[in-house]
Amino acid sequence: MEKTYRIAIDGPSGAGKSTISRQVAAELGILYVDTGAIYRAVGLFMLRAGVDPSVAEAVAPKLSSVSVRLAYDGRGQRIFLGDEDVSDLIRTPDASRAASQVSAHPVVREFLLEMQRDIARHSSCIMDGRDIGTVVLPDAELKIFLTADAEDRARRRCLELSERGTPQAFDDVLRDMIERDERDKNRPVAPLRQADDAVLLDTTGNELEDSIAAVLKIVREKFAEL
Ligand code: C5P
Repeated sequence: MEKTYRIAIDGPSGAGKSTISRQVAAELGILYVDTGAIYRAVGLFMLRAGVDPSVAEAVAPKLSSVSVRLAYDGRGQRIFLGDEDVSDLIRTPDASRAASQVSAHPVVREFLLEMQRDIARHSSCIMDGRDIGTVVLPDAELKIFLTADAEDRARRRCLELSERGTPQAFDDVLRDMIERDERDKNRPVAPLRQADDAVLLDTTGNELEDSIAAVLKIVREKFAEL
């Protein structure tokens, strides 16, 4: 059997993790796993259930009713709650905030940990998130920490939202982003931080193509056979 390998990509929101990872995965012919989508789906579930996502005691008893599943089709990764494809619904500002709030609860992280590890067990993949290199896949063959300055990240997120037909004011996007980053960095469990053995890549001012090329270069240096 061909040897499988895992690439962990972590970093703050809007650093380009998902766009870059998706394209690098396509180039390498391996699976792309967006773990933020899983937290978003749990956040959306809680909002719909009328539960305050920031209250762990309210979220915990509902977790056993959450059935979240990833599937892959021509459009890439899709995410399901039960039988419902919620891939687009999880991208709203409310779902973003709810994702960030539920993700701070240890009980939620524990609930999702095995699911993420299981995906990476069976095939080579690029998995992106906040704690992939530190907690989910500490043995990943390659870890990259992608970052960029906050204004640059907010500008990119604004562009993405406009392209999706849901534009938002720059100041709101920047404020939301900083708030989420602070919560991710300061939570006691699996905080956002660069793994000691991760390669740091700052994409401030880069065109997307430059960042993709930079990641591919790091990957090819690491795995000379690819
Ligand atoms: O990456 P994305 O912005 O879609 O993630 C949504 C939220 O889920 C983040 O703000 C973060 O709080 C949380 N998250 C996490 N751990 C991951 C992936 C995402 O805590 N591995």
